[in-house]
Amino acid sequence: MSHLMNTYSRLPVSFTHGKGVWVWDDAGRRYLDALAGIAVNTLGHAHPKLLRAITEQTGRLIHVSNLYRIAEQEKLADKLCAISGMDNVFFCNSGCEANEAAIKIARLYGHRKGIGAPAIVVMDKAFHGRTLATLSATGNRKVQAGFEPLVPGFVRVPFDDMEAVRRVAASDRNIVAVLVEPIQGEGGINISSMQYLRELREICDREGWLFMLDEVQCGLGRTGRWFVCQHAGVLPDVMLLAKGLGSGVPIGACLARGAAARVFEPGNHGSTFGGNPLACAAALATLQIVEEERLLENAERMGTLLLSGLREQLAGTRGVVEIRGHGLMIGVELDRPCGALVGQAMAAGLLVNVTMDTVIRLLPALVIGETEARQILAMLVPLVRDLLAQPAAASAARA
Ligand code: PLP
Repeated sequence: MSHLMNTYSRLPVSFTHGKGVWVWDDAGRRYLDALAGIAVNTLGHAHPKLLRAITEQTGRLIHVSNLYRIAEQEKLADKLCAISGMDNVFFCNSGCEANEAAIKIARLYGHRKGIGAPAIVVMDKAFHGRTLATLSATGNRKVQAGFEPLVPGFVRVPFDDMEAVRRVAASDRNIVAVLVEPIQGEGGINISSMQYLRELREICDREGWLFMLDEVQCGLGRTGRWFVCQHAGVLPDVMLLAKGLGSGVPIGACLARGAAARVFEPGNHGSTFGGNPLACAAALATLQIVEEERLLENAERMGTLLLSGLREQLAGTRGVVEIRGHGLMIGVELDRPCGALVGQAMAAGLLVNVTMDTVIRLLPALVIGETEARQILAMLVPLVRDLLAQPAAASAARA
């Protein structure tokens, strides 16, 4: 009997080591990792410079406490503010914790404005985490069911729909913020229009709301710029990061700007492990290596190669609903459940994921090269074609 709590439907494979975009299982089989730990391993596996930075830091100091000044944390906050245009940073350990910090900032900001029951506009199909507040902000009943009563204070609207936000603005005086993923990851690689992000910025300015972007999955270089909001030319008031920030070492961050940056005071928020020297050294090294190795450019080039390759090679294939993506964040939506494809890809030596039952998701490391990107296409396209060649009921039954 396993002593692990029954929280995941795990695939029957166990990995022992990795190098770049490759990982090996305990039987010595090699896999091309097109998922990178769900957008976490920015630098792929076992990057020598990251390894050196982590090893050096471990030998010096792993953890102290936020009771003291932490030089690595100050340096990382400086760097994150320099690349984002934000003013300050709170460090935590995960994406949901970063979102929790944002929700608390929005509520405190509202209370200070005299709003007794502050509410945040959130989106259909959003994913913000699995703590009680973040699952309440999440737009997926599967994540929420059984955990009621949900945390109140969220008003849900359709994603990428400016009219819906305007209607809420006209009718609800308790709104204090909008929380949105510029590209929804768990929700199926749904990409908001850049105009939508700009209009959200405008309405937040007009209404005195905080514009809060959850870039936990889509940020940190994956789309060819550090952050998706930079493609739209807008700055949020609050931005959330985690996943790729430490390239596998757990670290999350809540970045704030202007009034939002002045909301928290000592005693309002905290985290024991948040921003410890080891996690910050990993994040500092990650950011430095992304710059040194020009991985933003690489993400854009490899993303274009993958997206155009998929579009060309699957053009006219019945059952492909849409192929969408931005940089190395790509979804292939089919007209039927395709969970079975994950196992088939694994058998072929490729790691991918399916989200929302029908969307094949690719999130490879930013270090991926052209040969490897072409290998993904060569492995994935025939699997998609085969799956779609079967009657829909048969592929659904296997999912
Ligand atoms: N926000 C987004 C956009 C995410 O994709 C995720 C995780 O998938 C989270 C928040 C939650 O992050 P974590 O699992 O680190 O708590």
